[in-house]
Amino acid sequence: MICNLCPRRCGALRTPTAGEGLCGMPEAPVLARAALHHWEEPPISGKRGSGTVFFSGCSLGCVFCQNEAISHRRFGTPIAISRLREIFYELIDQGAHNINLVNPTHYAHAVLQALEHPLPVPVVWNTGGYERLETLRALEGKVQIYLPDYKYRSPERAARYSGASDYPETAAAAIREMVRQTGPMVLEDGLLKRGTLIRHLILPGGLQEAKAVMDWVAASFPAGTAGFSLMSQYIPWGRAGEYPEINRPLRRSEARAAQAYMAALGLEGFTQEAGAAEADYIPPFDLSGVEKG
Ligand code: SF4
Repeated sequence: MICNLCPRRCGALRTPTAGEGLCGMPEAPVLARAALHHWEEPPISGKRGSGTVFFSGCSLGCVFCQNEAISHRRFGTPIAISRLREIFYELIDQGAHNINLVNPTHYAHAVLQALEHPLPVPVVWNTGGYERLETLRALEGKVQIYLPDYKYRSPERAARYSGASDYPETAAAAIREMVRQTGPMVLEDGLLKRGTLIRHLILPGGLQEAKAVMDWVAASFPAGTAGFSLMSQYIPWGRAGEYPEINRPLRRSEARAAQAYMAALGLEGFTQEAGAAEADYIPPFDLSGVEKG
């Protein structure tokens, strides 16, 4: 395939086994883990867990990525699309409340084929937020829950940490499209069945950025139309050591100040315990559930 799936629009040739372009991933989906996961927000994880499918490689490539073993170092194994669909059903058989596609953007073509027939549980598109509208439109009706990050309002920080100065406007347009597709959040028995939940991970020294993101969310989406999740789990990881200002854990005071701002704005949603940062949030990337048992 000639790939223009994401806003990088590389026009790169991706063959079933060889990758080109910025993400460098082949056409066949490469997976690092498929397992029940309990660390998402409560309406996603529920009691039994979210059926997470971790895709390898990334079209955004943030320097602080907490999943850098798979996103930057591309650990994983390629699978057929028929196997991807089998994995969805294996997770559902294990009790997954939903199928949670983690960083699937560069495999949208494969996911669309695997979702040709609807699944009996909601499909979650769990993304860094850097998406092309054309790709999102192709997913309409296939994805019931969008879980996008909104990482930056500042083009300078987006350029510095993710090499994408267009991120603020591109992700904003993408999130608007996601909310248009899903409509307001629909919960049943405490589980999210449909809707868009916007996440923001507070970076060290990123309080002003977090406030700007929350301002945008509050101004863009009236109460009840989209959820918001403020994440405090940052720990220095990946290439953060090359960026001294983010090469430290988030301070409790930074998390608390951001949480107070969220409350003052009246934004509904989720927060994490200030000081929640632990490497435990990073799952083991060991190919669990990827190859046929
Ligand atoms: S998915 Fe990968 S190859 Fe395709 S446009 Fe994005 S970065 Fe480039």
